Amino acid sequence: MQTIVWQTILMLLQFKIQDYMERASRGEVTLPPEAVLNFAKSCKDAVTVQLNKEKSYKIRMSGLGRPVCQQLLEKRGIEQETKYNLLFTFLFGDIVESIAVLVLEQAGVDIVAKQKAVKLTIDGTDVSGTLDLIIRDEFGQEKVWDVKSASEWAFKFKYTGYGGYEKIKEDDPFGYIMQGHLYGEATGLPFGGWIVINKSSGEVAVVEAPEWQADDRKEYLADAKKRIKILTDESLEFKVPFKDVFETYKEDGQEVRTGNKLLPKPCTMCSFQSTLLERCSVA
Ligand code: SF4
Repeated sequence: MQTIVWQTILMLLQFKIQDYMERASRGEVTLPPEAVLNFAKSCKDAVTVQLNKEKSYKIRMSGLGRPVCQQLLEKRGIEQETKYNLLFTFLFGDIVESIAVLVLEQAGVDIVAKQKAVKLTIDGTDVSGTLDLIIRDEFGQEKVWDVKSASEWAFKFKYTGYGGYEKIKEDDPFGYIMQGHLYGEATGLPFGGWIVINKSSGEVAVVEAPEWQADDRKEYLADAKKRIKILTDESLEFKVPFKDVFETYKEDGQEVRTGNKLLPKPCTMCSFQSTLLERCSVA
């Protein structure tokens, strides 16, 4: 019964967003001046953050679920590879997310809090974060939601279609699920999931976290504790946690090795990959 209620809530949320967007496209809505000012402020905040990046490492809810090796190198101040276009990538992402919040507000979604600073003390270490939204549904239940902008590929294969919470759980290099549960734990609320915007098509998806999430919450908190232990232990040596993988191809349904070795998958997306090839390469 509760699952049907949850599914109905999600459909209503999706409907409200799409309905507002359609009405806006037909010129049937008017934006109040204070909404314009709020949006301008969130753009200003995004530019200020992206162009005044802090160099020092802090354990944050948004990053704790990433590979620990990356966080250790970041903490040690090791230089990361930077690409000039990343500035636009991050800024576009922030601004797309600000537009999404504006649309949600105007669509009549009951937003209880947005961009709320939260804190948790895990094993004596303070971990802070800024959650995107707390939304109250039609039944008065408040949940924490994260707003994500996604590429065409991630929107189609990670968040929608065969994607979704369980799929992300299988391969979560950015620690999105841990992030959601840490925000949830810090506020004493369930994690609702993600409101995702396809940066290329403008489509919006409501991607839900499971209704029964107590076990996951426990598991991710225990994992967060383990990670913090490693990250705060100054005596630990840096160790590469991954092994190179064999390059393979399929022949008559069988996997054949080419003899070449490839970088482990997490390393292919890591900004330490080229600057630290020696340190991170494994035999
Ligand atoms: S290159 Fe690989 S091993 Fe090195 S920090 Fe990145 S993910 Fe970790």
